[in-house]
Amino acid sequence: MESITSAASRVRAFIRSVLFAGTQAEDLSSSSRRIFIINLFCMVGVTFTFPLGVLALFSGRWGMGIGLLALAALYTANHFFLRRTQNHVLSSNVILYPLYLLMLYLVYSGGVNGTGHVWIYCLPAVSLFLHGLKRGLLELFLFLLLLLFVLYGMETPFDQLGFHPDLKSRVVLSFVLVILLSTVYEYITSLFNHSLQEAHNKVALAATTDPLTGLLNRRGLQNTLADRNWSQPYLLLLDVDHFKRINDQYGHDAGDLFLCQMAENLQQTLPKAAALSRWGGEEFLIACQCESASKAMAFAEALRGRLADLKVLWDEQEIATTISIGMVQMKQAEKFSEALGRADKQLYQAKAAGRNHVCLDWHG
Ligand code: GH3
Ligand code: MG
Ligand code: MG
Repeated sequence: MESITSAASRVRAFIRSVLFAGTQAEDLSSSSRRIFIINLFCMVGVTFTFPLGVLALFSGRWGMGIGLLALAALYTANHFFLRRTQNHVLSSNVILYPLYLLMLYLVYSGGVNGTGHVWIYCLPAVSLFLHGLKRGLLELFLFLLLLLFVLYGMETPFDQLGFHPDLKSRVVLSFVLVILLSTVYEYITSLFNHSLQEAHNKVALAATTDPLTGLLNRRGLQNTLADRNWSQPYLLLLDVDHFKRINDQYGHDAGDLFLCQMAENLQQTLPKAAALSRWGGEEFLIACQCESASKAMAFAEALRGRLADLKVLWDEQEIATTISIGMVQMKQAEKFSEALGRADKQLYQAKAAGRNHVCLDWHG
């Protein structure tokens, strides 16, 4: 019993690894969904075409047998290509165009005991999903023209099978109906996916942005640092001096305006290799890649001077104050929280030195 359970879980793990190869967890993008469907199609395709190909060979239908086995090999190769490159555009062509040709051949030849035409109904859903509404519909329209030509414009083995004459028109009409239904379904699904993607983007933005200033928040800065992969960046922890006095004297809204204008001002002075965040309250954190400690110091001093000159107009009065900065360079393999703790100590020193100061931990 136990061995059956472990075999079942291994099969489940194998199927998952095939289906999700090349997709990213929690990725809602259409690319990921297409990669998933191509993987699914490769797997289902091989599961059908391989045994059917072997059966066809055993029953002496060499052309059909070799064609189906070649398709199985193509789908397997396509899966591994997609796994390596994630190039779903090319992979979807490898799935769809041989499939279109196979369907035409099945209708032309009649397939096994005249059942070949029943397989064409899988085309609309797969084509619209993989190539989208515009290109998918165009390809289906071209296929429909070729289908009409095969059914009505050629002498085919299908004609020798003795079907009722009405069958051809019913095949075409029901195929058109499936195209229409698949189009409606694909259209509604794409609308739904679009709004889902938008909602996802909004949530992701809100989770990494400070609503007052529009700057990165803590999580946003930490994500940016992880993405940029800078080696030993400098951390500048900025704190507004006597900010409470601004709130007390002019009100909270004036304090908010001051923070917004300060954020704008900082953003304008930021070099390329730097990220700015509102760390909390009236504290800002800048991470930047600087060539040397003296250049980092010059940058911090320039910021301090610029903000000391900042005058924010509120109720026809000018609000001004200064900032203090604590600065460190991250050590090799140092934890972010540890470097931040050191920056906080330097900030404390800057405040103790009478504010409007920059303190750098020269010795790390
Ligand atoms: P210090 O020079 O020692 O830093 O003095 P300070 O007054 O700036 O320091 P303190 O930490 O005592 O005060 C910070 C104030 O910032 C207190 C808090 O009410 C205010 N504050 C925090 N977040 C906001 C905000 O989003 N908007 C406004 N208007 N005020 C805020
Ligand atoms: Mg503070
Ligand atoms: Mg302060």
